[in-house]
Amino acid sequence: MQNLLLVRYGEIFLKGLNRPYFIRALVRKIRYALRGMGADVHVHDGRILVRGIEDMETCIDRVTRVFGVHSVTPAVEMPKEDFDAVCAQAVEMARGLKGTFKVNARRSDKRYPMNSPAINEEVGYRILQANPELKVDVHHPDHLINIEIRDMAYLYAQVIPAVGGMPVGTNGNATLLLSGGIDSPVAGWMIAKRGVQINAVHFHSYPYTSDRAKEKVLDLARKLSFSCCGIKVHVVPFTEIQMQIHEKCPEEYTTLIMRRYMMRIAERIAKQTESEALITGESIGQVASQTMTALGTTDAVAGMPVFRPLIGFDKSEIVEIARKIGTLEISEQPFEDCCTVFTPRHPATHPKMEKILEGESRLEEEELIQRALEGTEVIRV
Ligand code: ATP
Ligand code: MG
Repeated sequence: MQNLLLVRYGEIFLKGLNRPYFIRALVRKIRYALRGMGADVHVHDGRILVRGIEDMETCIDRVTRVFGVHSVTPAVEMPKEDFDAVCAQAVEMARGLKGTFKVNARRSDKRYPMNSPAINEEVGYRILQANPELKVDVHHPDHLINIEIRDMAYLYAQVIPAVGGMPVGTNGNATLLLSGGIDSPVAGWMIAKRGVQINAVHFHSYPYTSDRAKEKVLDLARKLSFSCCGIKVHVVPFTEIQMQIHEKCPEEYTTLIMRRYMMRIAERIAKQTESEALITGESIGQVASQTMTALGTTDAVAGMPVFRPLIGFDKSEIVEIARKIGTLEISEQPFEDCCTVFTPRHPATHPKMEKILEGESRLEEEELIQRALEGTEVIRV
């Protein structure tokens, strides 16, 4: 007899030829999540099984956070020939349960001497004898005791929902503009959930933003790293660009011009890292630089799709996800971001493109970008 974990994935992605590719990718990601735990992950009889688990609770916690896993089930695997032992195990699983139950047997080994209704009846009878507090309800049971007769017998009672999504890497790469705020880590997490490998860019304005502010961003990336299967963070020195914008451009346009520079540089890094899109944590109207007109002016410099998965979210909804994925407490640490260092008193909410272009014409764009790229530090977390 052995305790194991059955892993379920979303069937919707599994049509046709993608199936083996998807399953292999998912197995690799589950192995990555369980590294150091001594567990064995493999495909058996068309399902992903995890065997050799010493700490089931930690294993469940980790596997349910792997993108592509839709639910997990702790199960017992045992020889099917000894039917009394199978019954005893089912009785054990039903010990302490209250309310109603149903036995749900499935026999894929058609040579097995008992058919499914016979198994249901016999096991149900023995459970009732051992636990008279339970009642049978075949339509809406509180508890479902599952018995699968395959090459072995598999028994399980609990289905634990997992994060869903698709395995990281099965949908290409994208580059996340990662600040120290609440929004951008959530935005990255949401796109990674769709199977996209994330690469991060952070703009750092030392000494206006401290080393501790940079550490905070790396902590956020480390937090995301488990779900995202490792992240490379590109820390771009942004002080010179910000100073120049501050000195030479109209004040109400400084934030937008700065954001356009962020986009330009992020796009260069995206191309170097084979990313196909940029990701930001913006949502409509959240701040002046996120009105639709303002978003249009930052989009205008990007030569690739810009994904803003939080575009229609309220802050409270974003906070809820941040809490769930564990980034909130890091984001809430009070360190300055380069966006907040040189905030204009009256940022333009309906910016005019001519004014932006006129302001930008006073800057040595290519030189500034080149120097920022040359000074970029790459940190793998
Ligand atoms: P967040 O909580 O993500 O910081 P925010 O509400 O503070 O968002 P802004 O400061 O306007 O919004 O930034 C909008 C988006 O621009 C961020 O979600 C992020 O994607 C990107 N961004 C802002 N500052 C930086 C930075 N220093 N480095 C990298 N990206 C940044
Ligand atoms: Mg921010």
